[in-house]
Formats: sequence, structure tokens, C-alpha cells
Amino acid sequence: MHNLSSPIWQPFTQMKTAPPPLKVVKGSGIYLQLEDGRTLIDCISSWWVTLHGHAHPALADTLYRQAQQLEHVIFAGFTHDPAEQLAQKLLTHLPPALTRVFFSDNGSTAVEVALKMAHQFWRNQGQHRDRFLCFEGGYHGDTIGAMSIGRGSSWWHPFRPLMFQTDLIPFPATFDGDEAVAAKEAQVLAQAERLLQARGDRYAGLFIEPLVQGAGGMRMCRPQFLQALEKLVKRFDVLLIYDEVMTGFGRTGELFACLKSETVPDLICLSKGLSGGCLPLSVTVATEAIFQSFYEDDPAQAFYHGHSYTGNPLACATGVTSLGLLEQNPAYKALENLHQTYLRQYLQGHPLLEHFRVCGTIAAMEVKTQSASGYFNAIAPLLKAKFLEEGLLLRPLGNTLYLMPPYCITPTELETVYQAIQRVLTSLA
Ligand SMILES: *Cc1c(COP(=O)(O)O)cnc(C)c1O
Repeated sequence: MHNLSSPIWQPFTQMKTAPPPLKVVKGSGIYLQLEDGRTLIDCISSWWVTLHGHAHPALADTLYRQAQQLEHVIFAGFTHDPAEQLAQKLLTHLPPALTRVFFSDNGSTAVEVALKMAHQFWRNQGQHRDRFLCFEGGYHGDTIGAMSIGRGSSWWHPFRPLMFQTDLIPFPATFDGDEAVAAKEAQVLAQAERLLQARGDRYAGLFIEPLVQGAGGMRMCRPQFLQALEKLVKRFDVLLIYDEVMTGFGRTGELFACLKSETVPDLICLSKGLSGGCLPLSVTVATEAIFQSFYEDDPAQAFYHGHSYTGNPLACATGVTSLGLLEQNPAYKALENLHQTYLRQYLQGHPLLEHFRVCGTIAAMEVKTQSASGYFNAIAPLLKAKFLEEGLLLRPLGNTLYLMPPYCITPTELETVYQAIQRVLTSLA
């Protein structure tokens, strides 16, 4: 009822049953100040975008200066310093095989660009490859192409008839003390190999969220798995495409999951943290071989894709400043140990929790539920409401509880978050 008083139709929300949205009047570091006077700790970096904290002075200053200089300009036939600087700076941190930076404006479009580039890469060489390999539980965005390769998600039943065919393989999700992990990985690799053997020449590429599947439930895999997968995919001459929209910019404890796993994709999609969480911006970075397949006299071999706000100077300028902040202070490297310490101290051994896992700045666990269905659906909104009462912004994914704080969180602040989570879980037990 109360949701009818505003004209705004909210994302991922059943408007009829959801509580009314909370109005935020100010952000500062890890804190969000609400209109009703409450203060929340943003434990999930908003939608996984905020790296350095809210309303960071250096980013605000960059925005102000850039807005006075050049707010936007068409990007076809024109360029500008913020985009040039961001592309150069980004490449210094990525594997040297990745050399060409294509701008778009959100994670889903970065994935659409990779899909289209991969398909046309083969077409430019006279090959017809229209299939993609992807992982169960994968999430790559909400546009039709991105949904098609993330079709494991149950949110999208209404759109199934619009999606294209893909081949799904299981994701070897693991956790602390998982004794079956090596066997799981071997099984997945064998299944992928069978598919590649059967029709390797039909696959344009394989998409994966490396190390951590985000929206699918913060499901983590081992670097060893990515190394074996890279070898396999390259043996069959299929493009390896990393969706690092969430894992990029320090989330896994290294700047990129490809660096942490010592693997090299042919295409990488980056967004969320790219602008430090300030503005929508994304890139798809390609190898020289992919770029060269488009680099011909024939106009038909060009890549015809672009958005009105492609390469927006304000967003690019904040991207340069944000990367500079990450270079000066790699605070993201310290969070893994803190998560481990506080997990052990406050949550491990709790009768309602299992499957603990940490990767860099991300900690996750499962809340045990009575039955897989029914209660399963009730636990997420229930936990969310209880965490709000404790002053925490947390949004469990089903029964997966996870933390993904901005990197500026102090050890003391993180400890108070864990203590509050412990209180909430104790009240449930
Ligand atoms: C969020 C996300 C996307 C989609 O990005 P949007 O900016 O929300 O369109 C794609 N892939 C992954 C792995 C993501 O986490």
C-alpha cells in the first residue's frame, strides 16, 4: 500500500509485498544516514560497487573539476584525457595479453559487448560459432544476452522464451573443510571436455565469474580449477571470457581474479568498482588477436556497438582517481585475514551456520533452514529486517549470508558488524 505513494517502480522488488524503501540523505565512509535519523553500516558496498566508502572527498573533487571541464562528448570519432588515462592505467594492472579497451556503461552491457565481440571474432574469420558454455548459478546481468548465459537464475522464468541456447556446466563451489572439492572439479572438467569434444568448433566462448559467483550465492571456486579450465578451453581453441564485473578492483584480495588465479582470459568484463562506485561505467578488454580480427579495410568487419554515454568523461575521471587510490593504499589486501579472524571468533561453530568461505574482501556462509523450500524463502527478508534493527545493511541471497564491505572499514568497525550478526543469529537459534 505505502509503496503506491511514490511513482518509482523499484528494481528486483515485488512492490506489493516489499516494505517501503528507506530514504538515504547522506553517505560517509561505510555509513549511510537515513532521513528518519538512523545510521546504517553499508556491509555490502551498496550493490557491490563502493570501494573507498561513500562520498569520498577525492572522488567528489575529481567529479567537480571534471564537470567544469567537460561533462560529456560523443565517443565515436572523439576521445578525451579521462578515457585515455583510464584505459592506459587499467592496462598496466591487467595481464599484458589484454591490450584493447572498449567502453560501455554498466556490467550487463560489458557482458553483451563480450558476447558480440566473441561471436564476430569467429565470423570475421569465416567461422560460424553461435554457442556459449557457461556455469550453473552464474549471473551476468539482466539484458537478454546476459540472461541467456546466466540462465541458471530462477528470477527469469518469464523471459525464457526470449533467451538463446547455451550449454551449462556445474560450478565446483567449495568452502572451508570441503573434502570433495578435487573430485567435484575433476567431474566438472570432464563434463566440459565432453562438450568441447562433441562440438568445440561451435562454441564462440566460455563465460565464467572467476573465483566467486556473485548473485548465484557467493559461491567460490579454487584458483587451481581456473588454471585447469584455462588449459582445457585453450586446447579446444575456444575464447575464455571472464566476467569480473563484481570480482574486479580488489574484491578477491588482488586487483583482479585473473591475477590471483594466474590465468589469462581472452576477454574481461569490468564495471561495478571501475568508477570507485560513483557513476555507471564499464569496459570490455580484449586481446590483440581479437582486436586484429576486426582491424580490416572492410567496414563490415568493424564492431558496431556503442551507447549514448559510452566513455563518459565524469565516470572515466573518477575511474582514474579510484585506481590511484587503490594503488596508494591496497587496503583490500587486509580484509581476508580480518574476516577469518572474526568468523572464527564470533560465528564458527554456531549451530545455524555452515559452509564458511572467504575470498579477499568477501565472506560468506549458509544459514541452515528447516526445509529447503518454504522457510528458505522466508529467511532472507527475516534476516534482512533483523540486521536493519542492528544498524546493518545486509541483503542475504536466499539463505546465503555474506559480507562485502567497502575497503575503508576499520578492524574495530568490522568486529562490531560480526558481533551484531552473532546477536541476530543467537536470537534465531
Ligand atoms: C552485477 C553484475 C553484472 C551486471 O552488472 P550491472 O551493472 O548490474 O548491469 C554482471 N556480472 C556480474 C558478475 C555482476 O556481479
